[in-house]
Amino acid sequence: MIYDIIIIGAGASGLFAASNIKLKKNQHGLILDKAKKPGLKLLMAGSGQCNLTHAGDIKEFVTHYGPSGKKIRSIIYNFSNDMLKTWFTDRGLKLMTRDDGKVFPETMYSRTVLDLFLKESSRNCFELRQSHDVVDITQLSDNNSDSVTSDKTTDTIAQSIDSSVKDSLFRITVATASGKETYITKKVIVATGGCSYPATGSDGAIFSVLTALDLELIPCKPALVPLSVEGYPYAELSGNSVKQAQVWIYEGKHRKKNSPTMRGDVLMTHRDFSGPGIIDMSRYAKNGYTLEINWVPEKNPETILSDINTMRKGNKKQLISVLTEYFPTLTQAHLRWLCQRAETDPAIRFTDVNSDKLKTLIRFITSDTFTISGTQGYKVAMATAGGIALSEISTSTMECKRIPGLYILGEALDVDGDTGGYNLQFAFSSAMRAAAHISDEI
Ligand SMILES: Cc1cc2nc3c(=O)[nH]c(=O)nc-3n(C[C@H](O)[C@H](O)[C@H](O)COP(=O)(O)OP(=O)(O)OC[C@H]3O[C@@H](n4cnc5c(N)ncnc54)[C@H](O)[C@@H]3O)c2cc1C
Repeated sequence: MIYDIIIIGAGASGLFAASNIKLKKNQHGLILDKAKKPGLKLLMAGSGQCNLTHAGDIKEFVTHYGPSGKKIRSIIYNFSNDMLKTWFTDRGLKLMTRDDGKVFPETMYSRTVLDLFLKESSRNCFELRQSHDVVDITQLSDNNSDSVTSDKTTDTIAQSIDSSVKDSLFRITVATASGKETYITKKVIVATGGCSYPATGSDGAIFSVLTALDLELIPCKPALVPLSVEGYPYAELSGNSVKQAQVWIYEGKHRKKNSPTMRGDVLMTHRDFSGPGIIDMSRYAKNGYTLEINWVPEKNPETILSDINTMRKGNKKQLISVLTEYFPTLTQAHLRWLCQRAETDPAIRFTDVNSDKLKTLIRFITSDTFTISGTQGYKVAMATAGGIALSEISTSTMECKRIPGLYILGEALDVDGDTGGYNLQFAFSSAMRAAAHISDEI
């Protein structure tokens, strides 16, 4: 049989594409997935509650994809957060928006989203096969017919096809528990995700298949991941969180005007920095780069120094009491720890604090700098930075410019969004873009 469409990957983007391509009775669509069950990562999303997207103005929305934001603007605009919400509600899945803008199914249960996608895919006549690991994609042109596998059925089909048609077909080779199988299809959608949480099936192995087709791969690294730093000093403060700290990441010792930065909550764990302010910035991190944190960005460092000097004269209160009053957003435990790092006794009378030590202390508060030493890797990263270069695809169809009939979606592309629903939105928007084009074509 020649399939009309084969979708590789039954995750967020693959299932959403299948949910939006209505096959006719005589057409054949197949979803192949290497994991034992579909949508494993979708089930984990938002701690099992599924943060589907983020509310708010679409212009601001696209600023949450780092440097890729500009390139994918048309994909997001074409199927926006509001359109996604309508898609779900039209199909009876009610949504709720939290105060922080995150959008969830009203059930707060990812399973309801996955079940809807499986129902819609099956209604659109897509067959789903699990434990089918795609290990090769080949264009069935005469030029490479020598590389046809020994699969007799596929060979017979391939030989019987007119060579003009053959040029536009693909052979998909799959490893299964019972050996290799091959399939022939007119169109292929690669919806295989990135490399994070490899146990869910998206382990990045597909990238060698895609680079064999001469597609450019932007090197992958873990994103949305806590950051380890040399000499991490806050292990004892594990669980301490600072709201809306300012975080920068840059190469070398000196921050530049255009160094990436954002404000966000920073969490101290027993071994590294975490929280949205860190993990959303992690796409910029490299070993040896500097991580700088201003714990109190709402105050100007010069103002702090002048306020402190004014308050200091004759002030017999303990240093820690003054700091706790002046920096109400920081916990006393954190301030004590900062005093210790500045080699200053928090119990000393404020008036007696050495001026240089006070400056050092304020520097730690407003510009706490560390050398990045790594991450905990793909096991804990919620996304992948890198993937197939966006320049390889047309952003109006998601089709590869040099390989018509081959589409790439979601995290398999060089796109990673912030936490808060941005990655699923891209998976859905890119899937809708391809689905619309394919529906027009077939
Ligand atoms: C713990 C966690 C929580 C997250 N929470 C959220 C959240 O709340 N909101 C949000 O926006 N984003 C969240 N994300 C990110 C989001 O889940 C992903 O960006 C999104 O699932 C990517 O969709 P995708 O379709 O590109 O890939 P995936 O959903 O990863 O699906 C890829 C599928 O392809 C299959 N596959 C891979 N290779 C092959 C192959 N060679 N052959 C056959 N099948 C293959 C895999 O088995 C998998 O089923 C979270 C990620 C993690 C890890």
